[in-house]
Amino acid sequence: MASIKEVVRPTDLQDLLSIIADREVESRLVAGGTDLLLKYRTQPGPEISIVDITGITELGEIIEESDGLRIGAAVRLVDIIASDVVAERFPVLAEGAVVVAGPQIRNMATVGGNVCNASPSADTIPPLLVLRAEAQIVSASGRRSVPLDRFFLGPGKTILDRGEMLEALWIPWPTTGAVASYTKLSPRRAMDLAVVGVAVALWNNSGGLDARIGLGAVAPTPIRAMAAEEVIKGSVKMDSSLATEAAQMAAAGISPISDVRGGADYRKKMVERLVTRLLVDLGERVGEQQEA
Ligand SMILES: Cc1cc2nc3c(=O)[nH]c(=O)nc-3n(C[C@H](O)[C@H](O)[C@H](O)COP(=O)(O)OP(=O)(O)OC[C@H]3O[C@@H](n4cnc5c(N)ncnc54)[C@H](O)[C@@H]3O)c2cc1C
Repeated sequence: MASIKEVVRPTDLQDLLSIIADREVESRLVAGGTDLLLKYRTQPGPEISIVDITGITELGEIIEESDGLRIGAAVRLVDIIASDVVAERFPVLAEGAVVVAGPQIRNMATVGGNVCNASPSADTIPPLLVLRAEAQIVSASGRRSVPLDRFFLGPGKTILDRGEMLEALWIPWPTTGAVASYTKLSPRRAMDLAVVGVAVALWNNSGGLDARIGLGAVAPTPIRAMAAEEVIKGSVKMDSSLATEAAQMAAAGISPISDVRGGADYRKKMVERLVTRLLVDLGERVGEQQEA
């Protein structure tokens, strides 16, 4: 079992960044602790300092900016679910947050922790991918911003370098008339990880339909089904045959593993079925908005 040397809770971001930049000390960031503390209770490892990020006010804020919404890394899932602006402009993100674990976990867990834990089955990530979220990263030496679909390297691995942390997730305001939805398939209704998670966003622009499709639990990282998105791009109308064609493309592009939650073939079939269903449903909603 790893021993925790100390827990520090800075209240100033620059202080926090100097702590994690210090190469003499092995430190780990903690937000809600629902993933991290479990890990350190069960895995052997070196002595570490835990750096609690929840004392930094700005990391817990949701801010409406002129071009998009900035969600601090330490915003809790319950706050995402309760946010009026998320409900109004990005309901698909709340759909992802509300199916994470149970109420006790959602009360502690943060969106930044869900993202940085980099689990292939994390429920907020497919919604964030279809919303074109960017990861805003900060360190003692500066800031950088990366599209979220380039943030993940493998299970539990991200592009964050030593001394860097996720400061916020930034989401551009959606195109007028865009609709999106997330569906999680899991054996139990609560407290279970996704066997497959599918988020789809669909909208119309001057060149026809456009879509983004995010998939969880079917690859080493959450991914976008870009080939399926291409099938839809520019189409005049969503119907069941276009939805099926795109969904087959999404399923053909993945090589999921078989594990206790489901076999690889089952996961592929479920991706095809869920993508088809979401595209047909969202296609009707986009169509209704055009007629209105
Ligand atoms: C019983 C149980 C059921 C669960 N069910 C689900 C589920 O259904 N769906 C799901 O998606 N998840 C589930 N989880 C996983 C977990 O609750 C989430 O991943 C949670 O959102 C993590 O947030 P946190 O704030 O608790 O992260 P923490 O545990 O505090 O941190 C997680 C990781 O991210 C790092 N980190 C945190 N914040 C930052 C930051 N700002 N910058 C850089 N690194 C950072 C930490 O160092 C750590 O490695 C479950 C967990 C448990 C224990």
